[in-house]
Amino acid sequence: MKKLAILGSTGSIGTSTLSICESFPDRYLPVALAAGSNIDVAFAQCERWRPRVISLGTEVLADALKTRLKSAGITGIEVVYGTPGSVYVATLPEVDFVVSAIVGVAGLEATYAAVCAGKTIGLANKECLVAAGELILAAAKKHNVALLPIDSEHNAVHQAMRGGSPNEVKQVWLTASGGPFRNTPAADFVHITPAQALKHPTWVMGQRITIDSATMMNKGFEVIEACRLFHLPPDRVRVTIHPQSTVHSLVEFVDGSILAQISVTDMRLPILYALAYPERVSVEGKVPLTFDLAKLSQLDFFEPDLSRFPCLRLAYEAAATGGDACIALNAADEIAVAAFLANEIPFLGIPSTIEKVLSLTPAHRPASIKDVLAADSAARERAREVVGAFSRPTAGAAL
Ligand code: NAD
Ligand code: MG
Repeated sequence: MKKLAILGSTGSIGTSTLSICESFPDRYLPVALAAGSNIDVAFAQCERWRPRVISLGTEVLADALKTRLKSAGITGIEVVYGTPGSVYVATLPEVDFVVSAIVGVAGLEATYAAVCAGKTIGLANKECLVAAGELILAAAKKHNVALLPIDSEHNAVHQAMRGGSPNEVKQVWLTASGGPFRNTPAADFVHITPAQALKHPTWVMGQRITIDSATMMNKGFEVIEACRLFHLPPDRVRVTIHPQSTVHSLVEFVDGSILAQISVTDMRLPILYALAYPERVSVEGKVPLTFDLAKLSQLDFFEPDLSRFPCLRLAYEAAATGGDACIALNAADEIAVAAFLANEIPFLGIPSTIEKVLSLTPAHRPASIKDVLAADSAARERAREVVGAFSRPTAGAAL
């Protein structure tokens, strides 16, 4: 029985992980949960799973949950909060496996602490690797910890990499659906609304990653994530537009062979792969993950269009620079996406905000998580200033 801590238990990846626990009760038991502010779902998860400990975003939320648990007669669940709370959840001695699925840099300290505590990690939170990949990988090496990717493309690459040794890999190909604006003419990008950008063609996910998919920044983050996880320079991590989202990624070997991973578009598959690794577990009669090959009629692959999707170009540039550029890339994107969702900036304001913040970011490499968080705060501050300029009359000219 593997005992799990789930960071981000109320989110899309968190609930899919709990669904796997539901399907394999003899294999996976969630014993510690961490979430942000969704107290109704957190309460329901406490009722169902009776974890040893749960962490919420703030003290006020934690107190409210304690009161609800008490009046429901549920005892024995420790309720903690904030970053120390999620670090506590991630490092609980009885936990074997930590699913890192808090969105954004909010999940960084807990993920890093889990690595330093020697836990096996199922990594969904790509922003952690973008902002602090070098530090996380160094800690993973030092503590002999496996970082198993849950992000579907990296999970696919991890699977395909089993077909050869690292020095036999020529390059990896990350597939991208192209998002809802794959065929939208450049002239129409100025009119894109949050409601349109939130409609992903093939995946149902949290809001941030859905907007990141629409700008293709998600793929940009994934390029950096792949560079770090698989020790490759940016020019050996390629992106290909594959609208069917059937091939989740490919590894090209030096002898010309390309190994692709094909499966349904359901995150329970990469989650189960990471949880079961190095085994493979049969889903027969448990989870409907069987892929119907007979229905596969067409597989398309295209070059990405960097002029309509400048976020992808910005990510490659940040990947080449490394250090604080990657931290600023993520921080500026997080602020810009929130501003777009709040109708404060247009869709094209997302890349322009990020580009401006990157141009203001000094070349520097963080030596500690504290350094990462400081660079993250500085970049957020710069991004807020840039975003604020949009609502002032001269904004367009300045940007
Ligand atoms: P989501 O928005 O659905 O869930 C985010 C979770 O993080 C929620 O449980 C929320 O309560 C928690 N959270 C937010 N702020 C917090 C804080 N300050 N402290 C503690 N918890 C906090 O997001 P998601 O789609 O599940 O994505 C989670 C991560 O997984 C992201 O990094 C995303 O890029 C990555 N990912 C998601 C998918 C997917 O299919 N959803 C695929 C690949 C990678
Ligand atoms: Mg992905």
